[in-house]
Amino acid sequence: MTTELEIGLYIFMLAGFLGYNMITRVPPLLHTPLMSATNAIAGISLVGSVVVAGADYGPLSTALGFIAVTCSSTNVVGGFLITDRMLKMFKTAKDQTAQRRRLQFDPKMLLGLPVLVAGLLVLLYWLNQQGEGTMPSKLPTEILKYSYIVSAALFILGLKGLSSPKYARRGMFAAALGMLLAVVGTLFHHEIVTYKWIIIGCAIGSLVGGTMGLRIPMTAVPQRTALSHSLGALAACLVGISEYFRHHGELSAAVMTPLGFQVVIGGLTFTGSLMAAAKLQGLLPGHPITYKGQNIFNLSLLAVIIVSMIYMVVMPTAEPVFYIMVGLAFIFGLLLVIPIGAADMPVVIALLNSYGGLADAAMGFVLMNKIQIITGSLDGASGFLLSLLMCRAMNRSAINVLFGAFGKIEKGVEAEVEAKGSVRSITSEELAVLFDSMRSVIIAPGYGMAVAQAQHGVAELANLLMKRGINVKYAIHPVAGRMPGHMNVLLAEANVPYDQLYGMEQINPYFAEADMALVVGANDVTNPAAKYNKSSPLYGMPILDVERAKSIVVLKRSMRPGFSGVDNELYYNPRCMMLFGDAKESLNKIFAALKS
Ligand code: NAP
Repeated sequence: MTTELEIGLYIFMLAGFLGYNMITRVPPLLHTPLMSATNAIAGISLVGSVVVAGADYGPLSTALGFIAVTCSSTNVVGGFLITDRMLKMFKTAKDQTAQRRRLQFDPKMLLGLPVLVAGLLVLLYWLNQQGEGTMPSKLPTEILKYSYIVSAALFILGLKGLSSPKYARRGMFAAALGMLLAVVGTLFHHEIVTYKWIIIGCAIGSLVGGTMGLRIPMTAVPQRTALSHSLGALAACLVGISEYFRHHGELSAAVMTPLGFQVVIGGLTFTGSLMAAAKLQGLLPGHPITYKGQNIFNLSLLAVIIVSMIYMVVMPTAEPVFYIMVGLAFIFGLLLVIPIGAADMPVVIALLNSYGGLADAAMGFVLMNKIQIITGSLDGASGFLLSLLMCRAMNRSAINVLFGAFGKIEKGVEAEVEAKGSVRSITSEELAVLFDSMRSVIIAPGYGMAVAQAQHGVAELANLLMKRGINVKYAIHPVAGRMPGHMNVLLAEANVPYDQLYGMEQINPYFAEADMALVVGANDVTNPAAKYNKSSPLYGMPILDVERAKSIVVLKRSMRPGFSGVDNELYYNPRCMMLFGDAKESLNKIFAALKS
């Protein structure tokens, strides 16, 4: 006879393969929305949290459940809203014209979902009160089962929609509906006796998540995603602790094994993601913090955690070991991220996304909740694949990202830069004159455009040039910026139709014909040393062939290196001219010069 555990394992594996397959079809254009979409779907920990917060498991469990509900609902509401905000921006030139003529679906409609859940909760609370503490008429558990089946299908449809910007919004709407169904179904769970803490937790979470989802600028998407992962992981960890506490460790090996994974992965993902968010927000130093013997120390700590997990499976009642194990997992998360530079955080975030998914799936095994196993597996596969894609685009291994302390800029780099040769500079007025003789310009944006928030200036300049009859194309490197697809989101925000954005393979053949390559805050992704200099850390990374254009203009503030910490040979090319200054200010000056 097939046991529940076996069924769970089959579901986990099949969902993982399905997720991997679907996510390979998501174009790089949509990689940032994909990260926040899977983050929202990972908020499925809400279903487990709701039961813990509403059941009569004791005050500690209720308190932990309440915190978990708050964290998960922040993820769900914030994640879906910001994904929709991003997806709404992706339009072709044709869509932009059509949009002016017809009424559009308003993303604020998504706010209706938490309102609907809140309304239902209030109704159930009232019914519960009428029935003096117990649900007056429990709907059959079948409702729960079927709502989970339908929501699993909707989540899969949602991710499938992300394979094209055309269907992505509709897909995400289906996924949000799936989440709503799963949560509503869970509200009828037979163990729930009170809705008080669920209502308060959902209300706080929706408020925080909604504010973040609607207000956070697109340039802060990486840190929001990291923060959101940390909340989801905390929810999974707390639910695990609550389960352990309420059974006083009297758990079978089949439950203790996933529970160990749940609290350990949840714990380390929580602190690791918090660190990642703080580094990206600039609250902590962004450079790698290293010390002697760091990797050995971290690996030893990991070994202790693994041994504790095994010990707990054999001796599940050893409470002190359990709590020490959880504490060590929290510490390990911090130590794991400290030696990684801020610029590598996107890979870390994607990996932590994958861990968060695994923690959710483990929680699904503990509670024997199939929908959590499915979404956890989908999320795990997505994060894993995205981190692999990023590493591949940077020509680095995941081991190098995690343990290489990459981006640690050694002293003396600037001195070395100066010794390389002469660099030509250009003023905005001179550049404006130069545009008169141009017929085709390729714009290559990079991280500096995000820092300067210059995407609107770039789009305005491109429009002005196009009005003057110049052919303008955008060259998008897969790892330009600090998130996969970062440049696509920023340019979409500035209303650049996505059919004007060219991926690296598509655009590289055009550079040789272009009159000018205009590099806006990009550095590493344009460094020709990546092609031939075997001693360069960038060697092997595919780059944008900007050096093949007839002229090159680079907008950046100084000769400082980019993320990799290495000098860019492009700047010493006789056809290259540097326009020093903040990219946004430089663009304003170019604009003024062009108009005058
Ligand atoms: P980059 O190599 O980090 O260079 C960005 C440049 O922007 C800097 O040299 C900086 O020079 C300039 N800059 C900063 N602020 C500016 C401002 N306000 N105005 C004008 N310029 C400004 O960026 P990239 O070329 O986009 O390359 C991305 C790097 O990140 C790659 O090495 C990639 O491997 C790595 N990475 C990317 C991802 C991802 O998913 N996208 C993930 C992990 C790692 P100044 O200081 O002189 O202004």
